[in-house]
Amino acid sequence: MIYFKDGEFLTEDKLNVSVNDRGYVFGDGVYEVIKVYDGALYTAREHLERLLESAEKIRVSMSYTIDELLEIAQKLQADNQISVGHIYIQVTRGVAPRAHQFPEDSVPVMIGYAVENARPLEILQQGAAMKSVEDVRWLRCDIKSLNLLGNVMAKQEAFDHGCQEALFVRDGLVREGSSSNVFGMKDGILYTHPANNFILNGITRRVVLQIAENLAIPVKEEEFTLSQALQMDEFFYTSTNAEITPVVTIDQQPIGQGVPGPLTRKLQTAFEAQIPKLVVAGDTKEREANGPAS
Ligand SMILES: *Cc1c(COP(=O)(O)O)cnc(C)c1O
Repeated sequence: MIYFKDGEFLTEDKLNVSVNDRGYVFGDGVYEVIKVYDGALYTAREHLERLLESAEKIRVSMSYTIDELLEIAQKLQADNQISVGHIYIQVTRGVAPRAHQFPEDSVPVMIGYAVENARPLEILQQGAAMKSVEDVRWLRCDIKSLNLLGNVMAKQEAFDHGCQEALFVRDGLVREGSSSNVFGMKDGILYTHPANNFILNGITRRVVLQIAENLAIPVKEEEFTLSQALQMDEFFYTSTNAEITPVVTIDQQPIGQGVPGPLTRKLQTAFEAQIPKLVVAGDTKEREANGPAS
């Protein structure tokens, strides 16, 4: 695999990462994941803009412009010959002897790579199970921080219960997934948490809101409770890799009929129509009209 580090494209054996990197010691950094479909980067500019925003929020000043970052991301895709997969980029505050306060002269360290990663076609078709977990994370969930301990613990708790994703609940209110945003559909209205400090404002979330507007589906960016979530007609979560994943149970209770709902299917179809080219199991196929894995 070809990595990017500090202006160079390198193989792993040439990568020189310090144990005193503040990303390693404190999780003092931010990151992004950009999807690649059929060799083309999807919504890369939006992701890179958010990377710069996250860096700014933690007071890390990056020396790259969006266009330079875009070029790096594209070269990572090309050098690694990624067809369907993702690009990972992280930026840390840099290398310095361990002390909590910002070092005076550290230089941010940016690392990137690209990997093949198939679309989760089976789960997109069949739907996922969620497990509610108390949201014990910090109060700056709007930053895509490298500090993911709360998210990691929650995801594992979901997995331990045979579920694919955790559903964060704070003060009785549904916030987001452990690495995704969540939406509920009730009486034809699409509900999702407002973009504030309690959630990460996903790029996929924004794409879904745009698609809903195009399809004239009414949207309310409002908080809702876990019991309201359980009463939704349909439910789904979104992220760069999960796309629009239907949720068929929460805490083992069926949502709606316990199968992916028709509006979720409609959104999935509209989402797929935007993907550069639909790729199934490594082969480029003609786009199909009936939803993901059909
Ligand atoms: C990355 C992430 C998301 C989803 O964001 P996308 O840009 O759609 O991938 C949602 N919640 C959390 C906590 C995340 O880290």
